[in-house]
Amino acid sequence: MSAAPPRLAVSGLTVSFAVGLWGRRIAVDDVSLHLSPGEVVGLIGESGSGKTTVARAALGLIPADAGRVHLDGVAMPAPGAARRAWRRGAQLVLQDPDGMLNPGMTAAEHLIESAELHPGEGQAKARAEAMAAAMGLSARLHARPAELSGGERRRLGLGRVLLASPRLIVADEPTAGLDAHRKAELLDLLLAGRGPSGRAVLLISHDLPLVAWACDRLLVMVQGRIVEGFPARRLGQLGHHPFTAAALRAAGRPTPGHALNPEAEPSLRGCALARRCAGATARCTEEAPPLTDRGDDHLLACHHPSAP
Ligand code: SF4
Repeated sequence: MSAAPPRLAVSGLTVSFAVGLWGRRIAVDDVSLHLSPGEVVGLIGESGSGKTTVARAALGLIPADAGRVHLDGVAMPAPGAARRAWRRGAQLVLQDPDGMLNPGMTAAEHLIESAELHPGEGQAKARAEAMAAAMGLSARLHARPAELSGGERRRLGLGRVLLASPRLIVADEPTAGLDAHRKAELLDLLLAGRGPSGRAVLLISHDLPLVAWACDRLLVMVQGRIVEGFPARRLGQLGHHPFTAAALRAAGRPTPGHALNPEAEPSLRGCALARRCAGATARCTEEAPPLTDRGDDHLLACHHPSAP
C-alpha cells in the first residue's frame, strides 16, 4: 500500500521582489518544507525573514521565481481558475481578519455565507450556529465587524475558515497582539479537529514558546532561508542555531549559543548572520552554511553550532 502524499510539499521555493528600476531582492531563497496530514508545523523567524512570503507563494497567491508546490500530491497549476480550484482545500488565516470581513454583514451572515459556499453535513444555518457557539460568538451574531472586538473579529474570521473544512490551514501570526488567555483559546480553536480530519496547519509566528507548545515540528527562518528544523519536543535539548538559541534566551530560557548583535546589517555573502554573530569566523563570511541533516530529524545550517 502506498503512503499518502504530504498535505503540503514545497521544494526549492525562491521568491524575489523588484527593488528600484533594475534591482531585485531575494526574499525567500531555496526553501523546502513539507507537512504530513494532521501535522502542525511552526515556522518562526524575526520580521522580514520571509515567513509570510513563503506562506503566500506556497498557496500560489504571489509569483515565485523557482520551486515546486504540491497539495496532496497535486502540483500547483498555472494562475487562473485551475489554481483557484487547486487552492480550495487550503485556507489562509491572517493576523488582521478585516480583509476577509464585509463591514456591511453581520457575524451570522458571514458564517452562513461560508457554510453555504462550502457545503457540509447539515443545513448551512445550523452549521453556522454551531460554529458561532464553538467560537463563543452566539451572543454576537447580529453584530457587524465594527461592533466586534479585535478578538471577536479574529474568531469570526477563523470560524469562516473552519466552515470551509480546509485540509490545510496556513495561519500567519494569528495570535499577535492577543493576551495569553486569548492566544491559547484561539490556538485551541485553530488546532481542534485536526487529528480526525487530517487537517495540517502551518503556523507562522515569531513567538517561539507559543509555537513550540502548539506544534509537532519547528522550522526556523533567517533572511529568507530555513536554518533549522527539529521536533518541537526537542526544543532546548539540541545544539541549536544561534538564532534559535537567542530566541530561547529572549523567552527566558538560558540556552548556550553565540550572541547576536541585533543592530548589525545582514551579510550579503556567506552566512546572513556573519556580521551579527559573535561566533562568526572567516569561513562564515565566505561560505553560506548548507542545511545539513544531523540525524534524529534535526536539520541545521551553521558552521559552528553550540554544543547541546
Ligand atoms: S554560520 Fe557562522 S555566522 Fe552563521 S550563525 Fe553559524 S557561527 Fe554564526
